[in-house]
Amino acid sequence: MTSAATSTPQPATLVWFRQDLRVQDNPALAAAVTRGRPVIPVYILDDAGEGRWPMGGASRWWLHHSLAALDQALRSRGSRLVLARGESGAVLRDLIKATGADAVYWNRRYEPAVIARDKGLKAGLDVEALSFNSALLFEPHTIRNKAGAPFQVFTPFWKHCLTLAVEEPVKLRGGDLPSPMSWPRSLELGALGLLPKIPWDGGFAAAAAPGEAGAMSRLKQFTAGAMDDYADRRNRPDVLGTSALSAHLHFGDIGPRQIWAAVKATTKGSGVFPPNRGAQVFLSEVGWREFAHHLLFHFPHTPEAPLRMDFAAFPWVQDSVKLRAWQQGRTGYPIVDAGMRQLWATGWMHNRVRMIVASFLVKHLRISWQAGADWFWDTLVDADLASNTLGWQWTAGCGADAAPYFRIFNPILQGLKFDPEGDYVRRWVPELARLPAEFIHQPWEAPMDVLASAGVTLGRTYPHPLVDHGEARDAALAALATIRRAK
Ligand code: FAD
Repeated sequence: MTSAATSTPQPATLVWFRQDLRVQDNPALAAAVTRGRPVIPVYILDDAGEGRWPMGGASRWWLHHSLAALDQALRSRGSRLVLARGESGAVLRDLIKATGADAVYWNRRYEPAVIARDKGLKAGLDVEALSFNSALLFEPHTIRNKAGAPFQVFTPFWKHCLTLAVEEPVKLRGGDLPSPMSWPRSLELGALGLLPKIPWDGGFAAAAAPGEAGAMSRLKQFTAGAMDDYADRRNRPDVLGTSALSAHLHFGDIGPRQIWAAVKATTKGSGVFPPNRGAQVFLSEVGWREFAHHLLFHFPHTPEAPLRMDFAAFPWVQDSVKLRAWQQGRTGYPIVDAGMRQLWATGWMHNRVRMIVASFLVKHLRISWQAGADWFWDTLVDADLASNTLGWQWTAGCGADAAPYFRIFNPILQGLKFDPEGDYVRRWVPELARLPAEFIHQPWEAPMDVLASAGVTLGRTYPHPLVDHGEARDAALAALATIRRAK
């Protein structure tokens, strides 16, 4: 693919897009523009470069649409996105050769396999190779506790971070980007094969709009609305009380500095920052994302192994039938099933429900957190190695600052507390929709006539509970005792 010359014949700068699929607040792109040479934006699909964690199916759906949005944004500035597939180093070297580029700029990532690959690349490319921070407020290598060690508890971590300055988002001025005399060959987006072959993504598009514009509009809507009540409503899956920015943040449709600045803008110069408790709690959740990256960077073995080594000997159960029932939302516990079905249908699940379903898997079923993390990896549009690892190890009690394993969520009480009218269950488990609120989280307690008039036959229209809560709790505590004894 070639096009007419639009500017000078100088050697170009390749801007290698990765998880920073936006034009604004993109330091690598801004630096390339400032350099004053033609800019060639590139995305490379490199599964092998992700090590043990090539992107899952739902993430690929998001990526497809986010790349389309980025290409469109670049085209509106007289540029375009060059797409390639293969080993990143080889593709970059080919592109350097084909275009005569004399520099490659990119924004940093923090997954262990990616860090190793990028380090090798930086040393091995024969042109200027510069990397920048676009993904975090506080990069992990810059943060240490007083003893010079990584933090392992969130509160002191975040307290320390809040003593540091947050940089302003990097602005890209308007107008066309400087383009090369001719464009290198690019794959068509469809040729990357990111969309599922057997479509299971029908509900994804209704739930989200991947890309920079979608992210900014979501942020605007959130800061003008739900943010003020975030502290009270963020645990309620039956209302839209959270930002739903996680996949945008993962793919870099938006960056955390932009979120910080948008929250700051809501203070309208009052000088009070954060402006209210909702904003404060929201920013601290963005802080959990920072903490997750801090942990992944300093403890790179944790996607596969527990941070607390005593948990390596936990007697996990291998049970593919129960695992399947959990994955498909057929456990007989309505709040668990609602969450798993929301995940399958939309690629996203509310945080409170993520905690409930994860706890159910690792405690009620005693199936390993790694099996749960694998399923989330494939089905979440926001699957993120740092946050997924933290979430699962937190729930299983084997990570940093984790909920103790012996604290076992009761899925019935969790449902009654956080979905009090049962609206969330009604939406995702429609076969229970006609049950009254008092029974919707425990249909087996409903009298026969109530079940009958709601059209529910347990064991036929909706499953009996896969395990008894009390018995499962005792078995989980007994399993925990075995690793305590072994210490
Ligand atoms: P909001 O409540 O609006 O929070 C704003 C942002 O802060 C989020 O977009 C997210 O980037 C960050 N954030 C919020 N809570 C957390 C948290 N507990 N840990 C880390 N970052 C957080 N989040 C992912 O982005 N990817 C994952 O793969 C992922 N896996 C998880 C697995 C488990 C078992 C659990 C319990 C949590 C997981 N989370 C993950 C964290 C959290 O559930 C999601 O970030 C959140 O639900 C996203 O919704 P939101 O954007 O509306 O969040």
